[in-house]
Amino acid sequence: MQELLSKLVKKNIVITKEGKVADYIPELDKAKKDALGICILDNDGNIYTAGDWETKFTIQSISKIVTLMLAILDNGEEYVFSKVGMEPSGDPFNSIRKLETSSRKKPYNPMINAGAIAVASMIKGKDAREKFNRVLDFFKKVTEDDSLDVNYKIYCGESETGNKNRAMGYFLKNDGIIEGNVEDALEVYFKQCSIEVNAYTLAKLGLFLANNGRTSSGEQIITQKIATIVKTLMVTCGMYDLSGEIAVRVGIPCKSGVGGGIVGVVPGKLGIGVYGPSLDKKGNSIGGIHILEDLSKELKLSIF
Ligand code: GLN
Repeated sequence: MQELLSKLVKKNIVITKEGKVADYIPELDKAKKDALGICILDNDGNIYTAGDWETKFTIQSISKIVTLMLAILDNGEEYVFSKVGMEPSGDPFNSIRKLETSSRKKPYNPMINAGAIAVASMIKGKDAREKFNRVLDFFKKVTEDDSLDVNYKIYCGESETGNKNRAMGYFLKNDGIIEGNVEDALEVYFKQCSIEVNAYTLAKLGLFLANNGRTSSGEQIITQKIATIVKTLMVTCGMYDLSGEIAVRVGIPCKSGVGGGIVGVVPGKLGIGVYGPSLDKKGNSIGGIHILEDLSKELKLSIF
């Protein structure tokens, strides 16, 4: 396995030339375009790594699965999905247009920005600080990593430039999707996106879902039902408007972020974390997708 990963990283570094590092959020453009790394964890405690698996980057949209789990724990499935849909939108992750045109005004799903901002508004807590600390504590528990924290430079950059996300927040408030304070929801959202991780952290998150919500030390933190919901939404919506193609090419639940991370879940078996900040046009790690595709073929990982 170790050998295979090194081979796949080496092979796919070439493709990183074809993508572009995200630059619409200040600081993200500082990432090394040809960085590429992977970490895989299994249930026997093995850890396989290659390339830039230790490099830190911000989790960005992958945080949407973390807040979704906590929001369902806090409010129940029925409430959460009364405010956010379960359908792929077919639009880019930051699109605003369907908020006005969809029949029930709900964002299409929790993996696009509008849906995730609505989900952030559902996290319990008296103010933004308490809400976000609950998200961070929950993420620490899931990954069994107490050192997780926010990259404050990136958080400030996101908060200062996130005007479209802010617009979506106010739109959602206007339509009654957000019931609480909009600025609190946005602060939680910008902070959750700015949590620093590496490919190992993502592999831990992936293994947690692969084991239906159980940590490596055996603690059941969410119900199997919640884990199933999250994994299913990862398949249908996790890679934005490329999710269908990824289901065909890779065939495992995946979630990407514009920081260059992808988390992959092989149910019952593996947690996979990938890092490659060079992105395709849809905002997914271009090298990451190719590594996952090769890996899936080599190890026959597709769940279909
Ligand atoms: N923080 C980013 C944003 O709101 C997250 C997007 C992403 O990773 N796709 O645009």
